[in-house]
Amino acid sequence: MEIVDELDVKPRPIYLRKQKEQFKAFQERFFGESITRLVELLHDGAKKAGWWNDVETGAPLERNKGELIALMHSELSEALEGIRKDAQDDHLPHRKSEEVELADCIIRILDYCGAHNLDIGGAVMEKFSYNMTRQDHKPGNRAKDGGKKF
Ligand SMILES: [Mg+2]
Repeated sequence: MEIVDELDVKPRPIYLRKQKEQFKAFQERFFGESITRLVELLHDGAKKAGWWNDVETGAPLERNKGELIALMHSELSEALEGIRKDAQDDHLPHRKSEEVELADCIIRILDYCGAHNLDIGGAVMEKFSYNMTRQDHKPGNRAKDGGKKF
């Protein structure tokens, strides 16, 4: 499915613009809700695995947000190490360590969002749409002096 790009918006008859707007809204809702379903799946799996309960008493855990963010960092560091060594993953040896560690990071992020009732699906799609309209993200502006080079 093609992502609708704000960069190619040209004057069009009103009905075509309306169709494009409706399709863009559909895309945002579809992908946002897909991410939300993934959050539910991953957080439910983490709860069933006991990550949100005390291992000895079974009581619900109030996990430290800073610690959870640090664990997300640790997955990114593992991905970097995988890139440095061009390594395969230990647990899924048919896959690159880079992609498995990035998957671990996404799993941690989405589990966190599920635990804290964050609408990450909506936020991702809203921020993506906003970014597509940003003047400082357009190639012509990025190429100028003081523009964002990366
Ligand atoms: Mg890992």
